Amino acid sequence: MKQAFLSKFYQKSIKERFEALVAAEVISEDDTVNFNDKFQLPNEIANHMIENQIAIYGVPLGLGLNFLINDNDYVIPMATEEPSVIAAASYAAKTIRQASGFSTTVHNRSMIGQIPLKNVPDMVYAERVLSEKANHIIEKANAAHPSIVKRGGGAKSIKTRIIEANDMYDSPAFLVVHIHVDTLEAMGANIINTMVEAIKPYIENVTGGSAIMGILSNYATECLVTSTCRIPVHLLKRTGYTGEEVRDSIIEACQFALVDPYRAVTHNKGIMNGINAVVLASGNDTRAIEAGVHAYAAKSGQYRSLTNWTKAENGDLLGEITVPLPIGTVGGSISIHPAAKFTSQVLGSPSAKELESIIASVGLAQNFSAIRALVTEGIQKGHMGLQAKSLAISAGAKGDQIEKVTEQLKQAKNMNLATAKSLLRKLTN
Ligand code: NDP
Repeated sequence: MKQAFLSKFYQKSIKERFEALVAAEVISEDDTVNFNDKFQLPNEIANHMIENQIAIYGVPLGLGLNFLINDNDYVIPMATEEPSVIAAASYAAKTIRQASGFSTTVHNRSMIGQIPLKNVPDMVYAERVLSEKANHIIEKANAAHPSIVKRGGGAKSIKTRIIEANDMYDSPAFLVVHIHVDTLEAMGANIINTMVEAIKPYIENVTGGSAIMGILSNYATECLVTSTCRIPVHLLKRTGYTGEEVRDSIIEACQFALVDPYRAVTHNKGIMNGINAVVLASGNDTRAIEAGVHAYAAKSGQYRSLTNWTKAENGDLLGEITVPLPIGTVGGSISIHPAAKFTSQVLGSPSAKELESIIASVGLAQNFSAIRALVTEGIQKGHMGLQAKSLAISAGAKGDQIEKVTEQLKQAKNMNLATAKSLLRKLTN
């Protein structure tokens, strides 16, 4: 990729942005032909994706720039309706790029299917028999979805958990059987659901319990990815602040989000601004990722920051995020949504593990940008410019009027819709 062609991307017109992407060798000249068609979800496909479909709801797609992850350059498609998210991610990535970029580790990539059993006559016996029959259960699960085994994946292991009866919820004791499945490039919901339904009767039979369901767990604790970065203090310097001051304030802000759930939720929402935007742009299931990531943030029993920022021995700022990211590069809407196909191409057709690394790094970048702004000039300064633009558009400004109203609105005493409308009236009269 020829990164230099992407500089000042935000100042370019959409046509110039495509020219820059071609010059930077992110896309080819051919890709720009009938470009809009590459993103349009045809009505006939949409109608088969959901029920009672009546239209297509649009979300802006932008590009996160400057990302250097494991020594590879990426231009990252992000689908979001929220102003500032892409600018913040790209800005953070620019700083982190100067400090050798992001390094990632995909710890494992295994999805979990669960079968909770109640009325198990003897928990100890049931756990023993399940352990003895584990290979047979795995064979049965794989026989239910042989194509994933042919591809090199499939069910790999069984684990059991006992959950005691809980008087507060009047809940019985459960013996929960987990089956761990390597779903390769797929998120694997359908693969797993097929497998657990197939083994459920056998598990009931050998344990004497009764299964209340068989379903994938979105708490993907066996599908974790870590992204880290190391930033020397000279890159953290801001007007009015030394690099050391910014580093220490970032660490303090993170410590606060580690101990206070009220802050942690907002801190993690900022991280999800980036994560969700890439998950959506790649055609993955945003709800599955959101649910799993937030549960992981509460794994200690209290909801905490997903990131950790600390000081290295030499004084550098160290950033780290670990999140469960059971995303896929095939299956679901990925293979049928034209935009998902195109965004994969922009990313260089990454594998699921590579896509996990990209998404986690965007989350870390987003967090860096947000807390760096919060502990220095605050986030409103950057946000208000974009907020002014939204107000100008809401007031009815079109074409050149948008920039003109936005600029005047930024100087106005009250930045609100009424002022935007009044400025537009003056401009058009
Ligand atoms: P699919 O069943 O659509 O796709 C996975 C299939 O892709 C595999 O079964 C496999 O089929 C095929 N495939 C082709 N190449 C590969 C490869 N290299 N690695 C793996 N599979 C490959 O999707 P998923 O099972 O991934 O399920 C995801 C969808 O399920 C999402 O749309 C999600 O929203 C939805 N969902 C989510 C739930 C949840 O999160 N709780 C619950 C239910 C549904 P084959 O081998 O036969 O060719």
